[in-house]
Amino acid sequence: MQLVFLGAPGVGKGTQADKVAAQYGVLKISTGDLLREAVRNHTKLGLEAKEYMDQGKLVPDSVVIGLVRDKLADPSYAKGFILDGFPRTVPQAEELGKVLNERGVYLDRVINFQVSREDVAKRLSGRRSCPKCQATYHVDCAPSKKDGLCDRCGEALVQRSDDQREAIETRLRVYEEQTAPLISFYERKNMLSHLDGGGAVESVYQSLTKVLTAYNMA
Ligand code: AMP
Repeated sequence: MQLVFLGAPGVGKGTQADKVAAQYGVLKISTGDLLREAVRNHTKLGLEAKEYMDQGKLVPDSVVIGLVRDKLADPSYAKGFILDGFPRTVPQAEELGKVLNERGVYLDRVINFQVSREDVAKRLSGRRSCPKCQATYHVDCAPSKKDGLCDRCGEALVQRSDDQREAIETRLRVYEEQTAPLISFYERKNMLSHLDGGGAVESVYQSLTKVLTAYNMA
């Protein structure tokens, strides 16, 4: 199973990727998670990336392509992977094609999650996350049991700096300008399936597994 999950920030691709990964024993590669880890560890890459991320802008292609290239070289990804949040630009998609080609691996499918801009903005502004174990919650749709504290580890929940209003606006604009062109990029290659990402996590997951079944992946 080699998949790309495409869609605006906040469409729920990460949540769905976690579910597919757990059920089918493949690994998720989230460039957002990898970059946040680098920021937490104060690595050189993290310091470079933080400035872009805080403003809701994309980190330079060369940086993220390097991250993904390193991950895909790891033998644990040979069983399959879900790319979540990568590629996000046409040059990243072209580079991904080359990296996979070098490894003799092909993408099975690109899933395009669709949610209205209004809903995405609501999902992002209500999102809270645990700085310790990275669990995510939503103030209205999926609140933690104890107000403001992580259910898993008890840490105080925080709002990601790029989930604040100004950064959300930038992220959605950046998505329209730089990432949405990937829809026609993959459509032309006959690799794209559209999926309605609105609604509850479980119902989106049901629709997703139907697509995976239709393409003999589940
Ligand atoms: P995400 O968690 O996927 O929404 O990513 C959070 C932030 O990380 C984005 O707003 C970008 O600043 C950066 N980022 C993640 N993936 C990429 C990518 N493929 N290309 C460039 N920047 C990225």
